[in-house]
Amino acid sequence: MTHDAQRSFETAWSDGRVADLRDALAGWYHAGHRKLPWREDISPYRVWLSEIMCQQTQVATVIPYFHRFLSAFPTVTDLAAADEQDVLALWAGLGYYRRCRNLHAAAKVVANELGGVFPGSAAELLALPGVGRYTAAAIASIAFGEVAAVLDGNVKRVLARLDAEDTPVNTGPGERLQWALAEKLVSRDDPASHNQAMMELGAVVCKPGTPDCPRCPVSDVCAAFAAGTPDQYPVKKKKKKAVAVRGVAAVCVDDDGRILLARRPDDVLLGGLWEAPGGPVDGSTAKDSGGGEDDGAGRAALTQHLSERLGIRDAPGAYLGAVTHVFSHRRLTLDVYQLRATKGSSRDPLSFYTAASWFDASALGSQHAPLSRLTEKVLELASDVQVWP
Ligand code: SF4
Repeated sequence: MTHDAQRSFETAWSDGRVADLRDALAGWYHAGHRKLPWREDISPYRVWLSEIMCQQTQVATVIPYFHRFLSAFPTVTDLAAADEQDVLALWAGLGYYRRCRNLHAAAKVVANELGGVFPGSAAELLALPGVGRYTAAAIASIAFGEVAAVLDGNVKRVLARLDAEDTPVNTGPGERLQWALAEKLVSRDDPASHNQAMMELGAVVCKPGTPDCPRCPVSDVCAAFAAGTPDQYPVKKKKKKAVAVRGVAAVCVDDDGRILLARRPDDVLLGGLWEAPGGPVDGSTAKDSGGGEDDGAGRAALTQHLSERLGIRDAPGAYLGAVTHVFSHRRLTLDVYQLRATKGSSRDPLSFYTAASWFDASALGSQHAPLSRLTEKVLELASDVQVWP
């Protein structure tokens, strides 16, 4: 944080202003907050599970996953003992699969090395796979009442507006400033409610775009509200544009309507998930790499991948169309082709993939094959154009 930012931060938040904020926030939260399943029967396991699931995913999407996970794995020991493929299959659709792998790895640490008991402080929780400063503080404050501040996307927006802070929140100095402010404001008496109230305020009142200031419990201490400029915050530094990349995939169906899927290696993007086999198109990291059309480069790349990776020598058939998917820094256009195959035409993977198998296309969701959202899009495309017999 710059000296100027530090100075204005120190003077702007007098003890009285901090106390007013804490009181108003607590009163509002206790008067009626959203009923969320992880706010009942609070335990470190439930809080941890919900916090990992809610990272980069909306609460409404998470709720059914949360229930399914708890029903399948009622305790952290049950989760640790589960087969990774089963855990990934239950996670399928939530995206960001590294979160799921880390979740499983952390469960094993807690179950196998800590006797099934979560560490009792934010500092110790940080040692678990996939647990960063925010998640550690959320678990420690909500489950153990530790005075530890949280800073997620919702809280960042609220703090930036409360402070009318011009330092971009997505830069190192901006982030340090926000952590310092969050630590200053967190209630010493009830950090659990305070942190949940801050997150709730960002989710339901101080929303992206135009916040609902007339309903806001802390408008009296909000600098952006006083200046009439809430929609100017948070200030963000523009990110680099996502790089366009191109890939190809084959929807390979046999005479019985079964589809061939292959399992990706563990140490790559979407590791361990099953997909319609294929791969990148050479030179596909170029900005104008094309994609979204049936051309010789796409067919040649797919023929080569199928041959090298699975020993399939059949040429791609009809072009089915393209699906697009945005990863954090890449925008993938995947051209999808049909491939008619006879039973038994696949073999063990020769390279890249770790397994290949035929699946009943009409019951894929219930089978032992976790799919990425990208692969679901490919299957939806194939279904739309009625690839299945
Ligand atoms: Fe956000 Fe408006 Fe409340 Fe300020 S007054 S914290 S801008 S909702």
